[in-house]
Amino acid sequence: MPQSITPILRAQLLEELQLLRTEIFSYLQIDHSDEYGKLRIQLEHQPLSHWPELLRSWLTPELENRSRRLELVQAALSQMDMGLYGLCSDCESRIERELLMADPARQRCAACEKVHVEQKQPAHRH
Ligand SMILES: [Zn+2]
Repeated sequence: MPQSITPILRAQLLEELQLLRTEIFSYLQIDHSDEYGKLRIQLEHQPLSHWPELLRSWLTPELENRSRRLELVQAALSQMDMGLYGLCSDCESRIERELLMADPARQRCAACEKVHVEQKQPAHRH
């Protein structure tokens, strides 16, 4: 992972984090039920890193996608802090630069991603 593009990707991730935060809040604001009101107050007082945990019991499909993405984006940012950014979570080789530029929160290299996707699908007949 060349150092030069990391700050750019980091800025993108931070921007996405703020966007997700805003989206989650506005989603919760549309629904004026008491539960969401309480959840919103909880979220306001918790760091973003606690959000996926807090959102877990409330997950609608819309919240689930954003909460999952929030986790990924935060994982990528903490990997940057630890100097482990850009390494594949499965084989630990470097994730291709183009793939990181397309999705800075990516966790797998192209080869492992392919295996992962195939494993999720029903078994093939050969
Ligand atoms: Zn890999």
